[in-house]
Amino acid sequence: MAKQVVVIGAGIIGASIAWHLTKAGARVTIVSESGAGGVATPNSFAWINASWGNPEIYFRLRTRAMVEWKRLANDLPGLPLSWCGGLCWDLPADRLEAYATEHSLWGYSIERVGRERAARIEPNLVEPPEFAVYVAEEGVAEPVAAAKALLADAERHGATVVAGTVDRLALVNGKVTGVVVSGETIVADEVVIAAGTGAPAIAATAGIKLPLEAPPGLIVHSRPYKKLLSGLVHAEKLHMRQTAEGRIIAGSDFAGGDPGENPDLTARELFAAAKAALRGGDGLELDFHTVGYRPTPTDGFPIVSRAEGMDGLYVAVMHSGITLAPAVGLFTTREILDGERDPLLAPYGLERFAQ
Ligand SMILES: Cc1cc2nc3c(=O)[nH]c(=O)nc-3n(C[C@H](O)[C@H](O)[C@H](O)COP(=O)(O)OP(=O)(O)OC[C@H]3O[C@@H](n4cnc5c(N)ncnc54)[C@H](O)[C@@H]3O)c2cc1C
Repeated sequence: MAKQVVVIGAGIIGASIAWHLTKAGARVTIVSESGAGGVATPNSFAWINASWGNPEIYFRLRTRAMVEWKRLANDLPGLPLSWCGGLCWDLPADRLEAYATEHSLWGYSIERVGRERAARIEPNLVEPPEFAVYVAEEGVAEPVAAAKALLADAERHGATVVAGTVDRLALVNGKVTGVVVSGETIVADEVVIAAGTGAPAIAATAGIKLPLEAPPGLIVHSRPYKKLLSGLVHAEKLHMRQTAEGRIIAGSDFAGGDPGENPDLTARELFAAAKAALRGGDGLELDFHTVGYRPTPTDGFPIVSRAEGMDGLYVAVMHSGITLAPAVGLFTTREILDGERDPLLAPYGLERFAQ
């Protein structure tokens, strides 16, 4: 008999897990209180990368996830992905050089570029950098469209989407046996919490603590505009890209800027900086800004594992969920259906917080 799995959450993580489980033959019900696309996911910058600042073991998971995006795009044609490349100079030159040296040794295809080459990569920069690094294999996913495509395909293959709030996990003899939604129990052999910042409240109903923070990140969106950017640009305190529908989106960091006390003002200032950085950007108009809350485990790394001591429960909560989604979907499915835990997930068990 096929395993019955409830996935809580319809963001990029829940969508990927539900898609992979369904394709592998599980009977899947997705329960979400938001529409398809999630909560953090629509507010994301959505850079797919294995860039600086991480230990090698996490770099390996991220590069694997980049490969898995390509596999997923083959399996599900039309996924809104673009391998547009990333140009970065948001670090002092010595740190940029150290990053390039280290990651090149790890096998990341980093090109060191000077002003002329930078201007060829992004011809509309008012001030191309003297020294930057360029990674042609980095890309973006349009996150809501990607999550919707995964969910729609999962539904075509038999998954069910239920709109509603999970009030609590159903428990029998210390095992999770389903979820309770508006007083009704949806029974499951296994429940996956892929509920982003909503995850700790759900886990707490089974006595499980998820150490999660939710730092805010502000991103500005222009109205759709003529093509100005070829790829991702990570300038000093100004990270930008142009979306599939032509909007320039920007944060003071890819993870979104600090909204400050006056988010409207912060947005206007950030947008002015983006506009000033782009030749031909005079006609750009600010359409709206978003403040998203990043589901970030307290040590900064993903939680992707069973909950120890609680049968029937799996947790998948993380920042960098856009980068990681296809690998997390694949590995979670293998662990739930076949009992095989991918070695790349070794550091990301919930039990690491027990000490
Ligand atoms: C400003 C910003 C910039 C970012 N930039 C990047 C980036 O460049 N690259 C990158 O890889 N990542 C980035 N991230 C992180 C990435 O967007 C997130 O890691 C990812 O979107 C998380 O997806 P998710 O599916 O786990 O969560 P969400 O999209 O938040 O989805 C959670 C789902 O759970 C549901 N839910 C919650 N509680 C309940 C409940 N009780 N009952 C029913 N349903 C429930 C919600 O309705 C929703 O459907 C960024 C995030 C932000 C905010």
